[in-house]
Amino acid sequence: MKKKGRISGLRWTFLKLSFLPVFLFTLIVTVFIAGSFARIMRREVENGLEDLNSAVSVAYDMMYPGDYTVVEDQDELYFYKGDHLINGDFSIIDTVKEKTGVDITLSYQNVRIITTLTDKNQNRYTGTKVSNVITREVLESKVGKFYPKVSIGGENYFAYYSPLINSDGTSIGMLFIAKPSREVDKLVWRSIFPIIMIALVIAILAVLIVTIFSNNFLLTLIKIESLLKKTSNGDLTAELEPEVLKREDELGDMGRYVIRMQRSLRELIELDQLTGLYNRRYVQRKMERVQKKSLETGVPFSVAIGDIDFFKRVNDTYGHECGDAVLMDVSARMKELMKGRGFAARWGGEEFLLIFESYHLDMAADCLEDLLGVLRSRTVAFQDEKVKVTMTFGVVEGSDDLLDHIIGAADAKLYHGKNNGRNQVVR
Ligand code: GH3
Ligand code: MG
Ligand code: MG
Repeated sequence: MKKKGRISGLRWTFLKLSFLPVFLFTLIVTVFIAGSFARIMRREVENGLEDLNSAVSVAYDMMYPGDYTVVEDQDELYFYKGDHLINGDFSIIDTVKEKTGVDITLSYQNVRIITTLTDKNQNRYTGTKVSNVITREVLESKVGKFYPKVSIGGENYFAYYSPLINSDGTSIGMLFIAKPSREVDKLVWRSIFPIIMIALVIAILAVLIVTIFSNNFLLTLIKIESLLKKTSNGDLTAELEPEVLKREDELGDMGRYVIRMQRSLRELIELDQLTGLYNRRYVQRKMERVQKKSLETGVPFSVAIGDIDFFKRVNDTYGHECGDAVLMDVSARMKELMKGRGFAARWGGEEFLLIFESYHLDMAADCLEDLLGVLRSRTVAFQDEKVKVTMTFGVVEGSDDLLDHIIGAADAKLYHGKNNGRNQVVR
């Protein structure tokens, strides 16, 4: 469980490493581009409203030449352009609204004289008032001005107010041209939406690419981690996929070091230091496996115990070091003999256990006779000495009996050989 958390933690770290910069980069770029687009779109709308404002103003001038005047009669305001009464004449503003969708108001000072703005019941907002702040600003400055959020009857408008200026330079009223803010926002949003979508797709692609590339790295790491886990649990034969071992980077190195570490540990645990043969503890485990396999497959195996003859004499005559040299030499001969046949182990001092896999008793005994022949025909050289070495072997065929019993039987035969002249194979 702990392992899983750690590896998924590593994956998470990688995701964070790739996702955060991509996310931040995309966010900054998107905000910048989308912001610019939104500004450009607003500017476009503003230009449109401003142009329309001029067009309406010119239309009034052309159709009804002369100044704007007002006549007040019993609380009623009568607003004139030249000698044309504007009150109640919606022809121009309604036509423009019909063609362009924008709302138009003509006001005397802050009082709406004619307008296309209506309430829910389609009653026009004539007679209502424009905010004092806007009125003051536009009439005093005598220049048109944008107001991005003018609230009229509960609806927000993106509006352009321009002053109505008479020939003597006085500003007498205002011309209002506006679009509902909702529509402008929709327009702006529609223009930046594709940018946001494209940015999102690019960000997802970038994260995906990083994930795909880091996946190979992570999977390799997970394989090495799994090998380390098995090794630390004592499985010194666990393997690593060849593709990891072939890598020429640090991960490949890590994999190779673990395999090398396994080998070193195996040697420490399995081998006898002096002779390089398997040690007693390891060969017992190995023999269990050979017996199990033999019982499963029906293929025979044979077991031999060998002991160097009069070895004590070698030690006594030539010294302990010479004894060691003899042990090493004899071990090398046995290792050679067992290649492809099975394996030899150091069972104790100058005693050896040999396991013949897939060998009947006679085949195994014949091999050992050959070995004795080799030993008899040569000497072990140590310094100036040439030491003659012989051995005695007891050999039995394996069975489903307890391993101790099988080895005991081979030992009994060895004992028999020792008591009957040594230098022989007893089968
Ligand atoms: P036998 O023919 O009856 O086997 O006689 P032997 O002299 O070979 O047998 P014995 O058991 O009397 O002596 C074995 C000797 O092997 C005694 C011990 O000191 C020696 N020996 C055991 N291990 C080592 C070793 O690692 N190095 C050396 N040099 N001698 C060892
Ligand atoms: Mg001996
Ligand atoms: Mg002995």
